[in-house]
Formats: sequence, C-alpha cells, structure tokens
Amino acid sequence: AQNGSVRKSRPNILVTGTPGTGKTTTSSALAKTTQLRHIIVKDLVKEKNLHDGWDDQLDCYLINEGLVCDELEDLMEEGGNIIDYHGCDFFPERWFDQVVVLQTDNTVLFDRLSRRGYTGSKLSNNIECEIFQVLLQEAKESYPEDIVVALKSDTIEEITRNVASLTDWVGSWHRAT
Ligand code: ADP
Ligand code: MN
Repeated sequence: AQNGSVRKSRPNILVTGTPGTGKTTTSSALAKTTQLRHIIVKDLVKEKNLHDGWDDQLDCYLINEGLVCDELEDLMEEGGNIIDYHGCDFFPERWFDQVVVLQTDNTVLFDRLSRRGYTGSKLSNNIECEIFQVLLQEAKESYPEDIVVALKSDTIEEITRNVASLTDWVGSWHRAT
C-alpha cells in the first residue's frame, strides 16, 4: 500500500532503557496481555545479519541502523508492535505512539548486570549510562515529549504495575483521525 493510506488499528510501543532495566521482561509480559508482537531488536540484528560485524571493544554487534529500519518498516506501518532496544535515536519518529524508558536504581542495576556477567568497562559504562539518564535524554530529543514516559523498574511489583498500566493504555488506544 502507498505510504499514508494504511491506518494502524493497534499502536506501536518502543520499550527502551539501559541494558538490565527490564526491557525484555516487561515487553514479553506486555506482549502476553495485549497480543502485541514483541520484537527484540538485538536478536533480530543477529538472526538477519543486520550488522557490520562484531565490535571487540564494545563486545556487541555493530548494528546497521538503516538495515534495521528497512527490515521493520512494513511491520511498523501495520502497527501492533513492541520494539525492545537499548537505543532509540535512529528509528523514524512517526513509528511510535508511546515511548517507554525504563529506569533502575544504579545499585540495583549494578547487581543485575554483575549477575549477567558484565565486568570492567562494560559494567561501568552501563551504570554511567543509567546515572546520567542517557536513554531518557535520547528519547526526549527524538520523540514528542507527550509520548515519552519514564517508568521505574527496580522491583517485580513495579514491572507488574508498569505492565498493567501499559495494558490499559493499549486497550484504550485509538488511532488519530
Ligand atoms: P533488559 O532487556 O533491559 O536488558 P531484562 O528484562 O533482560 O533487561 O532483565 C535483566 C535481568 O534483571 C533479568 O534477570 C530480570 O529478571 C531482572 N529484572 C529486570 N527488571 C526487573 C525488575 N523490575 N525487578 C526485578 N528484577 C528485574
Ligand atoms: Mn533485553
């Protein structure tokens, strides 16, 4: 279909935040309650080779942002997606109806990432990223302020509460006319 002629019937949500803040846990729970499609960008990049090789320094794939956006375009136009990624400045602004930035107390996050096996600069870079609210900043610079919401994600109770309120939001979402 031509651009603009397709109307989504379900919203697209971006769930972002520093690694370890609970994006994947929150998104998969939300996908269950809403039947939205959960897309873990990190996994998609690996599966479909949407990268320019492995970065030894950063210990991750060098994501090819253009390839990722091309891969997702049709699905995003269709609507009904939860995009799960620890970055947000390269997706088209028009894709999202809600941008969720998860935030975690840095001592809690330190323990979570240590448990995940992060050490050294990989660990400290991510803790700094959280302390300086890099993802919230990036989200506010990339999307209209009224669709960006920061949610605390320190405890399981907070995940439950966040999923419940996002589920309500999805349920009452109607496309703009
Ligand atoms: P991300 O996708 O942002 O990297 P994950 O959802 O993979 O984060 O969560 C990382 C780890 O932290 C998992 O073991 C998860 O169970 C735990 N976790 C995440 N968010 C919370 C939370 N709000 N309360 C308790 N544990 C959490
Ligand atoms: Mn994840």
